[in-house]
Amino acid sequence: LVARMRDFGTTIFAEMSALALESGSINLGQGFPDTDGPASMLDFAVQAITSGGNQYPPGPGTIELRRAVSGHHADHYGLSYDPAGEILVTVGATEAIAASVLALCEPGDEVIAFEPYYDSYAASIALAHAKLVPVTMRPVAGRFTFDPGELRAAVTPRTRAILVNSPHNPTGTVFTRAELTVIAELCQERDVVAITDEVYEHLTFDGVEHIPLATLPGMRERTLMISSAGKTFSVTGWKTGWVCAPAPLVTAVQTVKQFLTFTASGPWQLAVAYALRHQLDWVSALCSGLQDRRDRLMEGLAAAGFGVLKPSGTYFVQTDIRPLGFSDGLELTRRLPELAGVVAIPTQVFYHSPERGRHFVRFAFCKREHVIDEAVARLKRLS
Ligand code: PMP
Ligand code: GLN
Repeated sequence: LVARMRDFGTTIFAEMSALALESGSINLGQGFPDTDGPASMLDFAVQAITSGGNQYPPGPGTIELRRAVSGHHADHYGLSYDPAGEILVTVGATEAIAASVLALCEPGDEVIAFEPYYDSYAASIALAHAKLVPVTMRPVAGRFTFDPGELRAAVTPRTRAILVNSPHNPTGTVFTRAELTVIAELCQERDVVAITDEVYEHLTFDGVEHIPLATLPGMRERTLMISSAGKTFSVTGWKTGWVCAPAPLVTAVQTVKQFLTFTASGPWQLAVAYALRHQLDWVSALCSGLQDRRDRLMEGLAAAGFGVLKPSGTYFVQTDIRPLGFSDGLELTRRLPELAGVVAIPTQVFYHSPERGRHFVRFAFCKREHVIDEAVARLKRLS
Protein backbone atom coordinates (compact mmCIF):
# COMPACT_ATOMS: atom_id res chain seq x y z
CA LEU A 1 0.00 0.00 0.00
CA VAL A 2 1.28 3.48 -0.88
CA ALA A 3 2.62 5.46 2.08
CA ARG A 4 -0.04 8.16 1.89
CA MET A 5 -2.83 5.62 2.47
CA ARG A 6 -1.18 3.59 5.23
CA ASP A 7 -2.71 5.47 8.14
CA PHE A 8 -6.24 4.96 6.87
CA GLY A 9 -6.61 1.27 7.80
CA THR A 10 -10.21 0.03 7.83
CA THR A 11 -13.04 2.56 8.00
CA ILE A 12 -14.64 2.91 11.40
CA PHE A 13 -18.02 1.96 9.88
CA ALA A 14 -16.75 -1.41 8.69
CA GLU A 15 -15.00 -2.05 12.01
CA MET A 16 -18.01 -1.18 14.14
CA SER A 17 -20.62 -2.92 11.95
CA ALA A 18 -18.50 -6.10 12.04
CA LEU A 19 -18.29 -5.77 15.82
CA ALA A 20 -22.10 -5.42 16.01
CA LEU A 21 -22.63 -8.60 13.96
CA GLU A 22 -20.02 -10.61 15.79
CA SER A 23 -21.27 -9.62 19.25
CA GLY A 24 -25.00 -9.61 18.42
CA SER A 25 -25.18 -5.97 19.52
CA ILE A 26 -27.70 -3.34 18.46
CA ASN A 27 -26.01 -1.28 15.76
CA LEU A 28 -26.44 2.46 16.36
CA GLY A 29 -23.07 3.01 14.67
CA GLN A 30 -23.05 3.06 10.86
CA GLY A 31 -25.79 5.36 9.57
CA PHE A 32 -28.24 3.25 7.59
CA PRO A 33 -31.99 2.94 8.11
CA ASP A 34 -33.59 -0.37 9.08
CA THR A 35 -36.70 0.22 6.95
CA ASP A 36 -37.01 0.43 3.16
CA GLY A 37 -37.57 3.33 0.80
CA PRO A 38 -40.90 4.00 -0.96
CA ALA A 39 -42.40 0.76 -2.36
CA SER A 40 -43.25 2.32 -5.74
CA MET A 41 -39.59 3.34 -6.16
CA LEU A 42 -38.44 -0.20 -5.35
CA ASP A 43 -40.92 -1.53 -7.93
CA PHE A 44 -39.55 0.93 -10.44
CA ALA A 45 -36.03 -0.48 -9.99
CA VAL A 46 -37.32 -4.06 -10.46
CA GLN A 47 -39.14 -2.96 -13.63
CA ALA A 48 -36.04 -1.23 -14.93
CA ILE A 49 -34.15 -4.52 -14.57
CA THR A 50 -36.80 -6.81 -16.03
CA SER A 51 -37.51 -4.50 -18.95
CA GLY A 52 -33.95 -4.50 -20.23
CA GLY A 53 -32.32 -1.46 -18.61
CA ASN A 54 -29.17 -3.45 -17.90
CA GLN A 55 -26.46 -2.14 -20.21
CA TYR A 56 -24.09 0.82 -19.70
CA PRO A 57 -25.92 4.09 -19.14
CA PRO A 58 -24.31 7.17 -20.76
CA GLY A 59 -21.15 8.36 -18.94
CA PRO A 60 -22.77 11.48 -17.40
CA GLY A 61 -25.76 9.37 -16.21
CA THR A 62 -29.20 8.61 -17.63
CA ILE A 63 -30.95 11.66 -19.01
CA GLU A 64 -33.98 10.77 -16.85
CA LEU A 65 -32.01 11.20 -13.64
CA ARG A 66 -30.15 14.30 -14.81
CA ARG A 67 -33.51 15.90 -15.71
CA ALA A 68 -35.02 14.88 -12.37
CA VAL A 69 -32.09 16.36 -10.41
CA SER A 70 -32.36 19.54 -12.46
CA GLY A 71 -36.10 19.77 -11.72
CA HIS A 72 -35.54 19.08 -8.03
CA HIS A 73 -32.93 21.83 -7.66
CA ALA A 74 -35.11 24.31 -9.56
CA ASP A 75 -38.23 23.53 -7.48
CA HIS A 76 -36.55 23.38 -4.08
CA TYR A 77 -33.78 25.91 -4.31
CA GLY A 78 -34.47 28.06 -7.38
CA LEU A 79 -31.17 26.82 -8.83
CA SER A 80 -31.00 26.10 -12.53
CA TYR A 81 -28.64 23.38 -13.83
CA ASP A 82 -28.65 22.18 -17.44
CA PRO A 83 -29.05 18.38 -17.59
CA ALA A 84 -26.77 18.50 -20.66
CA GLY A 85 -23.39 19.52 -19.27
CA GLU A 86 -24.01 20.77 -15.74
CA ILE A 87 -25.03 17.53 -13.99
CA LEU A 88 -22.99 14.35 -13.59
CA VAL A 89 -24.33 11.16 -12.01
CA THR A 90 -21.82 9.34 -9.78
CA VAL A 91 -21.47 6.18 -7.70
CA GLY A 92 -22.83 7.82 -4.57
CA ALA A 93 -21.73 11.13 -3.13
CA THR A 94 -18.49 9.38 -2.17
CA GLU A 95 -17.35 9.12 -5.78
CA ALA A 96 -18.50 12.66 -6.53
CA ILE A 97 -16.36 13.98 -3.66
CA ALA A 98 -13.30 11.91 -4.59
CA ALA A 99 -13.53 12.77 -8.30
CA SER A 100 -14.01 16.48 -7.49
CA VAL A 101 -10.93 16.60 -5.27
CA LEU A 102 -8.87 14.59 -7.77
CA ALA A 103 -10.02 16.86 -10.61
CA LEU A 104 -9.22 20.12 -8.83
CA CYS A 105 -6.10 19.60 -6.72
CA GLU A 106 -2.48 19.66 -7.77
CA PRO A 107 -0.04 17.94 -5.39
CA GLY A 108 0.50 20.22 -2.39
CA ASP A 109 -2.75 22.14 -2.81
CA GLU A 110 -4.74 22.65 0.37
CA VAL A 111 -8.36 21.70 1.00
CA ILE A 112 -10.18 23.06 4.04
CA ALA A 113 -12.64 20.78 5.84
CA PHE A 114 -14.68 21.40 8.97
CA GLU A 115 -13.55 19.02 11.69
CA PRO A 116 -15.01 16.56 12.71
CA TYR A 117 -15.37 15.53 9.04
CA TYR A 118 -16.79 12.54 7.19
CA ASP A 119 -14.00 10.00 6.83
CA SER A 120 -13.80 9.85 3.04
CA TYR A 121 -12.69 13.49 2.82
CA ALA A 122 -9.24 12.92 4.29
CA ALA A 123 -8.70 9.84 2.14
CA SER A 124 -9.77 11.59 -1.10
CA ILE A 125 -7.47 14.50 -0.31
CA ALA A 126 -4.57 12.12 0.42
CA LEU A 127 -5.20 10.25 -2.86
CA ALA A 128 -4.82 13.59 -4.66
CA HIS A 129 -1.49 14.29 -2.87
CA ALA A 130 -3.19 17.37 -1.47
CA LYS A 131 -3.26 18.57 2.13
CA LEU A 132 -6.28 18.69 4.42
CA VAL A 133 -6.46 21.83 6.56
CA PRO A 134 -8.97 21.36 9.39
CA VAL A 135 -11.17 24.08 10.89
CA THR A 136 -12.58 22.80 14.17
CA MET A 137 -16.27 22.94 15.06
CA ARG A 138 -16.97 23.16 18.78
CA PRO A 139 -20.22 23.14 20.76
CA VAL A 140 -21.47 26.64 21.57
CA ALA A 141 -24.70 26.56 23.60
CA GLY A 142 -25.15 22.90 22.62
CA ARG A 143 -24.65 23.37 18.86
CA PHE A 144 -21.41 22.67 16.98
CA THR A 145 -20.16 25.69 15.06
CA PHE A 146 -16.89 27.22 13.80
CA ASP A 147 -15.05 30.43 14.53
CA PRO A 148 -15.01 32.72 11.45
CA GLY A 149 -11.56 34.02 12.47
CA GLU A 150 -10.16 30.48 12.49
CA LEU A 151 -11.67 29.81 9.08
CA ARG A 152 -10.17 33.01 7.69
CA ALA A 153 -6.77 32.08 9.15
CA ALA A 154 -6.91 28.64 7.53
CA VAL A 155 -6.93 30.09 3.99
CA THR A 156 -3.51 30.37 2.35
CA PRO A 157 -2.33 31.00 -1.22
CA ARG A 158 -2.33 27.18 -1.67
CA THR A 159 -6.01 26.80 -0.70
CA ARG A 160 -7.78 25.30 -3.70
CA ALA A 161 -11.09 24.19 -2.24
CA ILE A 162 -13.29 24.06 0.84
CA LEU A 163 -15.46 21.04 1.63
CA VAL A 164 -18.75 22.12 3.18
CA ASN A 165 -21.03 19.43 4.59
CA SER A 166 -24.44 20.69 5.70
CA PRO A 167 -26.49 19.14 7.28
CA HIS A 168 -23.27 18.05 8.94
CA ASN A 169 -22.26 14.50 9.75
CA PRO A 170 -21.28 13.72 12.51
CA THR A 171 -22.45 16.79 14.51
CA GLY A 172 -26.00 17.28 13.15
CA THR A 173 -25.39 21.00 12.61
CA VAL A 174 -27.27 22.67 9.76
CA PHE A 175 -25.29 25.75 8.75
CA THR A 176 -27.18 29.03 9.08
CA ARG A 177 -27.26 31.69 6.38
CA ALA A 178 -24.83 33.73 8.50
CA GLU A 179 -22.34 30.84 8.66
CA LEU A 180 -22.70 30.18 4.94
CA THR A 181 -22.19 33.88 4.21
CA VAL A 182 -18.83 33.81 5.99
CA ILE A 183 -17.79 30.84 3.83
CA ALA A 184 -19.16 32.38 0.63
CA GLU A 185 -17.37 35.70 1.14
CA LEU A 186 -14.10 33.98 1.82
CA CYS A 187 -14.41 31.75 -1.26
CA GLN A 188 -14.89 34.82 -3.42
CA GLU A 189 -12.21 36.98 -1.79
CA ARG A 190 -9.59 34.23 -1.97
CA ASP A 191 -10.70 32.48 -5.17
CA VAL A 192 -11.52 29.16 -3.51
CA VAL A 193 -13.87 26.53 -4.99
CA ALA A 194 -16.57 25.09 -2.72
CA ILE A 195 -17.37 21.37 -2.78
CA THR A 196 -20.63 20.88 -0.91
CA ASP A 197 -21.79 17.56 0.52
CA GLU A 198 -25.57 17.84 0.93
CA VAL A 199 -26.52 14.16 1.27
CA TYR A 200 -28.78 15.00 4.26
CA GLU A 201 -30.44 17.92 2.44
CA HIS A 202 -33.98 16.66 3.19
CA LEU A 203 -33.34 15.47 6.74
CA THR A 204 -33.67 18.57 8.91
CA PHE A 205 -35.78 19.02 12.05
CA ASP A 206 -37.75 21.59 14.08
CA GLY A 207 -38.46 23.63 10.94
CA VAL A 208 -34.76 24.31 10.34
CA GLU A 209 -34.20 24.88 6.63
CA HIS A 210 -31.31 23.49 4.57
CA ILE A 211 -29.71 26.28 2.54
CA PRO A 212 -27.42 25.18 -0.32
CA LEU A 213 -24.23 27.26 -0.44
CA ALA A 214 -24.73 27.60 -4.22
CA THR A 215 -27.82 29.76 -3.60
CA LEU A 216 -25.74 32.51 -1.97
CA PRO A 217 -24.74 35.47 -4.18
CA GLY A 218 -21.69 34.71 -6.34
CA MET A 219 -21.52 31.05 -5.31
CA ARG A 220 -23.26 29.09 -8.06
CA GLU A 221 -20.32 29.67 -10.39
CA ARG A 222 -17.74 28.36 -7.92
CA THR A 223 -19.58 25.49 -6.22
CA LEU A 224 -19.64 21.76 -6.95
CA MET A 225 -22.97 20.84 -5.35
CA ILE A 226 -23.11 17.16 -4.38
CA SER A 227 -25.89 14.93 -3.08
CA SER A 228 -27.18 11.38 -3.37
CA ALA A 229 -30.26 9.19 -3.01
CA GLY A 230 -29.09 7.04 -0.10
CA LYS A 231 -30.37 9.15 2.79
CA THR A 232 -33.27 10.89 1.05
CA PHE A 233 -34.93 7.63 -0.02
CA SER A 234 -33.51 5.18 2.56
CA VAL A 235 -31.45 3.28 -0.02
CA THR A 236 -27.89 3.66 1.21
CA GLY A 237 -26.88 0.54 -0.74
CA TRP A 238 -27.91 1.99 -4.10
CA LYS A 239 -24.89 4.31 -4.25
CA THR A 240 -26.46 6.76 -6.66
CA GLY A 241 -25.23 10.35 -6.39
CA TRP A 242 -24.75 13.49 -8.47
CA VAL A 243 -22.74 16.64 -8.76
CA CYS A 244 -24.07 19.89 -10.20
CA ALA A 245 -21.87 22.80 -11.25
CA PRO A 246 -21.05 25.08 -14.18
CA ALA A 247 -19.99 23.08 -17.26
CA PRO A 248 -16.20 23.58 -16.99
CA LEU A 249 -16.19 22.22 -13.42
CA VAL A 250 -18.47 19.29 -14.27
CA THR A 251 -16.31 18.47 -17.32
CA ALA A 252 -13.24 18.38 -15.07
CA VAL A 253 -14.93 16.02 -12.61
CA GLN A 254 -16.25 13.84 -15.44
CA THR A 255 -12.77 13.53 -16.91
CA VAL A 256 -11.66 11.87 -13.67
CA LYS A 257 -14.91 9.98 -13.03
CA GLN A 258 -14.87 8.25 -16.42
CA PHE A 259 -11.68 6.43 -15.44
CA LEU A 260 -12.77 5.59 -11.90
CA THR A 261 -16.06 3.89 -12.78
CA PHE A 262 -16.97 5.19 -16.27
CA THR A 263 -20.67 5.24 -15.33
CA ALA A 264 -23.00 4.42 -12.43
CA SER A 265 -25.51 1.49 -12.34
CA GLY A 266 -28.54 2.07 -14.54
CA PRO A 267 -31.63 0.60 -12.82
CA TRP A 268 -31.16 2.66 -9.64
CA GLN A 269 -30.83 5.82 -11.69
CA LEU A 270 -34.24 5.31 -13.29
CA ALA A 271 -35.86 4.50 -9.95
CA VAL A 272 -34.28 7.52 -8.23
CA ALA A 273 -35.38 9.77 -11.11
CA TYR A 274 -38.94 8.58 -10.52
CA ALA A 275 -38.64 9.10 -6.75
CA LEU A 276 -37.24 12.64 -7.08
CA ARG A 277 -40.28 13.53 -9.15
CA HIS A 278 -43.02 11.65 -7.32
CA GLN A 279 -41.97 10.60 -3.80
CA LEU A 280 -41.02 13.78 -1.95
CA ASP A 281 -44.13 13.52 0.24
CA TRP A 282 -42.77 10.16 1.35
CA VAL A 283 -39.52 11.95 2.27
CA SER A 284 -41.40 14.54 4.39
CA ALA A 285 -43.05 11.72 6.31
CA LEU A 286 -39.67 10.01 6.76
CA CYS A 287 -38.27 13.24 8.12
CA SER A 288 -41.01 13.81 10.69
CA GLY A 289 -40.68 10.19 11.81
CA LEU A 290 -36.93 10.70 12.16
CA GLN A 291 -37.48 13.78 14.30
CA ASP A 292 -39.62 11.71 16.69
CA ARG A 293 -36.95 9.02 16.83
CA ARG A 294 -34.27 11.65 17.42
CA ASP A 295 -36.24 12.89 20.42
CA ARG A 296 -36.80 9.36 21.67
CA LEU A 297 -33.09 8.50 21.48
CA MET A 298 -32.00 11.83 23.00
CA GLU A 299 -34.33 11.39 25.93
CA GLY A 300 -33.12 7.82 26.45
CA LEU A 301 -29.44 8.73 26.24
CA ALA A 302 -29.92 11.56 28.73
CA ALA A 303 -31.72 9.17 31.09
CA ALA A 304 -28.81 6.73 30.70
CA GLY A 305 -26.44 9.48 31.88
CA PHE A 306 -24.90 10.82 28.66
CA GLY A 307 -24.48 14.52 27.93
CA VAL A 308 -26.64 14.96 24.83
CA LEU A 309 -26.31 17.55 22.05
CA LYS A 310 -29.40 18.21 19.95
CA PRO A 311 -28.90 17.86 16.15
CA SER A 312 -30.93 19.94 13.67
CA GLY A 313 -30.39 17.44 10.86
CA THR A 314 -28.88 14.08 9.75
CA TYR A 315 -29.29 10.65 11.40
CA PHE A 316 -26.99 11.33 14.36
CA VAL A 317 -26.83 12.51 17.97
CA GLN A 318 -23.56 13.51 19.60
CA THR A 319 -23.04 12.61 23.23
CA ASP A 320 -20.49 13.62 25.81
CA ILE A 321 -19.39 10.54 27.76
CA ARG A 322 -17.72 12.35 30.66
CA PRO A 323 -20.84 12.55 32.87
CA LEU A 324 -20.76 8.72 32.89
CA GLY A 325 -17.16 8.72 34.09
CA PHE A 326 -15.57 7.77 30.75
CA SER A 327 -12.99 9.89 28.96
CA ASP A 328 -12.08 8.10 25.72
CA GLY A 329 -14.79 7.42 23.13
CA LEU A 330 -12.71 4.95 21.11
CA GLU A 331 -11.99 2.88 24.18
CA LEU A 332 -15.64 3.03 25.26
CA THR A 333 -17.12 2.12 21.86
CA ARG A 334 -14.77 -0.88 21.54
CA ARG A 335 -16.04 -2.12 24.93
CA LEU A 336 -19.67 -1.08 24.49
CA PRO A 337 -20.81 -4.44 23.01
CA GLU A 338 -19.54 -6.25 26.08
CA LEU A 339 -20.70 -3.56 28.54
CA ALA A 340 -24.14 -2.94 27.05
CA GLY A 341 -24.71 -4.87 23.79
CA VAL A 342 -24.77 -1.67 21.72
CA VAL A 343 -22.49 -0.34 18.98
CA ALA A 344 -21.78 3.39 18.42
CA ILE A 345 -19.14 5.47 16.61
CA PRO A 346 -16.26 7.23 18.41
CA THR A 347 -16.39 10.79 17.09
CA GLN A 348 -12.63 11.25 17.52
CA VAL A 349 -11.96 9.28 14.31
CA PHE A 350 -13.41 12.22 12.34
CA TYR A 351 -10.81 14.62 13.73
CA HIS A 352 -7.42 15.56 12.35
CA SER A 353 -6.30 15.64 16.00
CA PRO A 354 -8.34 12.88 17.70
CA GLU A 355 -7.69 14.43 21.11
CA ARG A 356 -10.16 17.23 20.32
CA GLY A 357 -13.04 14.77 19.91
CA ARG A 358 -11.99 12.22 22.50
CA HIS A 359 -15.01 12.53 24.77
CA PHE A 360 -17.70 12.47 22.07
CA VAL A 361 -19.58 9.39 20.86
CA ARG A 362 -22.07 9.37 17.96
CA PHE A 363 -25.34 7.39 18.05
CA ALA A 364 -27.61 6.87 15.00
CA PHE A 365 -31.39 7.20 15.35
CA CYS A 366 -32.42 6.02 11.85
CA LYS A 367 -33.82 2.86 13.45
CA ARG A 368 -37.27 1.55 14.38
CA GLU A 369 -38.67 2.69 17.75
CA HIS A 370 -38.42 -0.69 19.43
CA VAL A 371 -34.75 -0.93 18.40
CA ILE A 372 -34.04 2.49 19.93
CA ASP A 373 -35.96 1.55 23.09
CA GLU A 374 -34.04 -1.69 23.49
CA ALA A 375 -30.70 0.08 22.94
CA VAL A 376 -31.60 2.67 25.57
CA ALA A 377 -32.64 -0.02 28.06
CA ARG A 378 -29.26 -1.68 27.56
CA LEU A 379 -27.30 1.59 27.82
CA LYS A 380 -28.91 2.28 31.18
CA ARG A 381 -26.65 -0.53 32.49
CA LEU A 382 -23.70 1.83 32.14
CA SER A 383 -24.62 4.06 35.05
N1 PMP B 1 -21.20 12.34 2.93
C1 PMP B 1 -21.69 12.18 4.15
C2 PMP B 1 -21.65 13.33 5.10
C3 PMP B 1 -22.23 10.95 4.54
O1 PMP B 1 -22.71 10.79 5.77
C4 PMP B 1 -22.22 9.88 3.61
C5 PMP B 1 -22.72 8.54 4.03
N2 PMP B 1 -23.90 8.30 3.46
C6 PMP B 1 -21.70 10.11 2.34
C7 PMP B 1 -21.19 11.34 2.03
C8 PMP B 1 -21.67 9.03 1.31
O2 PMP B 1 -22.80 9.03 0.52
P1 PMP B 1 -23.02 7.92 -0.60
O3 PMP B 1 -23.43 6.66 0.09
O4 PMP B 1 -24.05 8.49 -1.48
O5 PMP B 1 -21.71 7.73 -1.30
N1 GLN C 1 -22.50 7.75 6.13
C1 GLN C 1 -22.61 6.67 7.06
C2 GLN C 1 -22.27 7.13 8.46
O1 GLN C 1 -21.73 8.19 8.66
C3 GLN C 1 -21.72 5.50 6.76
C4 GLN C 1 -21.24 5.28 5.39
C5 GLN C 1 -20.16 4.24 5.33
O2 GLN C 1 -20.30 3.18 5.91
N2 GLN C 1 -19.11 4.55 4.69
O3 GLN C 1 -22.54 6.37 9.35
